Amino acid sequence: MDDTPTPPAEKKRILTGDRPTGRLHLGHYVGSLKSRVELQHSYDTTLIVADLHMLTTKPSREAIEQISENARGLVLDYLAAGIDPNITTIYLQSAVRETYELNLILEMLITVNRLTRVPSIKDMARAANLSDEEMPFGLLGYPVLQAADILLPRAHLVPVGKDNEPHVEVTREVARRFNQLYGEVFPIPDVLVGEVPTLLGTDGQGKMSKSLGNTIYLSDDEKTVNKKVRGMYTDPNRIHADVPGRVEGNPVFQYHDAFNPDKDQVADFKRRYEAGKVGDVEVKDALALAINNFLEPMRERYRQYEADTGFVDQAIIDGTEKMRQMAAATMKEVKSAMGLSGSFNRIARAAERRRKKLEKA
Ligand code: ATP
Ligand code: MG
Repeated sequence: MDDTPTPPAEKKRILTGDRPTGRLHLGHYVGSLKSRVELQHSYDTTLIVADLHMLTTKPSREAIEQISENARGLVLDYLAAGIDPNITTIYLQSAVRETYELNLILEMLITVNRLTRVPSIKDMARAANLSDEEMPFGLLGYPVLQAADILLPRAHLVPVGKDNEPHVEVTREVARRFNQLYGEVFPIPDVLVGEVPTLLGTDGQGKMSKSLGNTIYLSDDEKTVNKKVRGMYTDPNRIHADVPGRVEGNPVFQYHDAFNPDKDQVADFKRRYEAGKVGDVEVKDALALAINNFLEPMRERYRQYEADTGFVDQAIIDGTEKMRQMAAATMKEVKSAMGLSGSFNRIARAAERRRKKLEKA
C-alpha cells in the first residue's frame, strides 16, 4: 500500500496594501485590514507598502524623504491590528524592481480610454487639487501599477475597500488580456470588499479619509477617541433629544453597527433615537466605549512593538527579500511566455558564435 502522504494543496495567495502617507484608520480596518488579519492563515498573504503609488500624486523630495518613517508607522499599524509577520509578507514596493518592469509591460494591454473611465482616478486628482490638464500620466496609470502589484505574486484574492474595487476590475481585464496573448500565466484575481464597504468619516460628509481630517486612527488613545466621538456629526435636525432622528446615513450608527458587539444595545438606541427618546451624549458615550474596547488589544500590541524598534524594520527587510524572489520568478515566466527573453539571447548567442569562428580562423 502506498502510504505517501498527499502533499498539502498549495495555498491561494492574497495581495493588498496601502500607501505610506499616514497612519491607518477605522475605515482602512473595516474595508480591508480586517479581512487580511482573518485570512492570513488560510492564504499566503502579501502586504504592499505602496510608496510608488504615493508618487502618482506626491512626487516631491519631501514626500519621498518621509517614506521610511511612514512605512514604519504603517507596518506598526498592521502588527497592532493582528498581522503576523511570521506568516504574512510585508514589502516596500519601490525596492522590488520587477514592479517597474511588469508595470511597463501591462501598460501595453489597456487603452487610455478605459483608464479615463475609472472613477477613482478623477477623485484622486481632485483630492490632490489637480485639474484635468494637470493629470499626470502616472496617475492615469495608477490601476495599471496596482495590476502589476497584484499580478507579481500571482494573487487570487484582493481584499480592498469599495473605492478600490474598480482598480481590481482593471487588473482582471489586464490579466485576461495577457493570458490571451501569451498563454496562461496569471490567475484572474477576485476582489473581496470588507464587511463595511465604505466607512463614513466622523464629519458624515463622505468616506473616512486621511486627507479629509475626519478619521479615527487605530493608534488614537482613549482620550482622543472620546473627544472625536463626542464631536461626531449626527442628524443635524435633532436640536433636542426629543426630536425624532435619522439612523440611516448617520455615521454614529454606522460605527455602532461596525464596532459595538452589543447588538441589543444598538437596536435599542436606534429605536429610541428614531422615536426622539434618547440624547446624543448617551449614544455617543456608548460608542466611544465600544471603539475603545475594540482598540484596546491593539494598544497592547503597539506598546509591545514600539518597545522593540528593530522588529518592524526587520519585518520589512525580510518581506521585501521574499517578495523579490517571488517577483523574479514571475518575471522570468512573463518574459518567457512573451518570448521577450529570447530576443536578446538570440543576438548574444549569434555574437558568441561569430567570436568563436573568428578565434578559429
Ligand atoms: P485615505 O483614503 O484614507 O486617504 P489612502 O487613500 O491613502 O487613504 P488607500 O490606499 O486609498 O489609502 O486605501 C487603502 C485601503 O483601505 C483600500 O483598500 C481602500 O479601499 C480602503 N479604505 C480607505 N478608506 C476607507 C473607508 N473609509 N472605508 C472603507 N475602506 C477604506
Ligand atoms: Mg484612498
